[in-house]
Amino acid sequence: MKYADLHVHTFYSDSTLSPEEVVHTAKEKGLAAIAICDHDSIDGIEPCEQVGARLGVEIIPAIEVTAEKPEVEIHVLGYFIDWKKDWFQKKLKEIQEWRVGRVYKMVDKLKDCNIKLDPKEIFNLAGKGSVGRLHVARAILKAGKVKTLKEAFDKYIGFLKPCYVLDIRFSPQEAIDIILKVGGIPVLAHPYIIGNDTYIEEFITYGLKGIEVYHIEHKNSVVKRYESIARQHNLLMTGGSDCHGLGKGRILMGSVKVPYELVDKLRDEAKALKENRGI
Ligand code: AMP
Ligand code: ZN
Ligand code: FE
Ligand code: FE
Repeated sequence: MKYADLHVHTFYSDSTLSPEEVVHTAKEKGLAAIAICDHDSIDGIEPCEQVGARLGVEIIPAIEVTAEKPEVEIHVLGYFIDWKKDWFQKKLKEIQEWRVGRVYKMVDKLKDCNIKLDPKEIFNLAGKGSVGRLHVARAILKAGKVKTLKEAFDKYIGFLKPCYVLDIRFSPQEAIDIILKVGGIPVLAHPYIIGNDTYIEEFITYGLKGIEVYHIEHKNSVVKRYESIARQHNLLMTGGSDCHGLGKGRILMGSVKVPYELVDKLRDEAKALKENRGI
């Protein structure tokens, strides 16, 4: 049986692994395909494709777009995106810049909580990738202000915690729309973390085509619930490990996987979508 892990990050966002390491890990885990889903970045796709061609691992071009509502944070995955579109890359550049500005704002708020961080150190941790809260959390940990990364989120930079910066760039509707416009299949990431299933129906009206039923944070009863919701609304059921390398403690790749047939289905749907929209 062939399997795919449909949620993998690289160091172009907040994983500790390079494209070379990501694809070698996929090969070691016996995966036929992985989807590269960096936060608001497509920079890892091409380097992974080069390694994938060498090692015989299929790379699915994908993204995890960050969106916010005033009361909740939403991540939307997009599969088989036509990432080479100029306007799309320009939009992502704007988000990269927004992410840099957001780090400065978080650093200011952290100062008020008696945590002094050097923004340069955070940017160094991010390297050439999309800078984000996991890098800020690592800097807080390094400064000895918390014992775990989770504590950094729970106390300071988790959604609506004192040093969180609510600065809405994309609504969920815009995130779904941008994915559709590059011919990608929009899928709601880790719905359990969102904590409110009523949003799913709202997002379907914007064009959502699937939900990430299988995820490292979804225990069996949660999986059952989302399988039933997906069936009810005729949504695709995707899954992946959300591997961040050592960014989340241990390498999770392949610990959540789906049968390869789903990859064919996503590819076919994305092809039909592109034909419909003339992309
Ligand atoms: P950002 O894209 O900068 O908003 O950061 C997103 C990253 O932070 C992802 O890797 C999330 O998994 C991680 N993250 C968000 N909230 C938490 C939390 N409460 N605990 C641990 N990690 C979190
Ligand atoms: Zn991440
Ligand atoms: Fe996410
Ligand atoms: Fe993710």
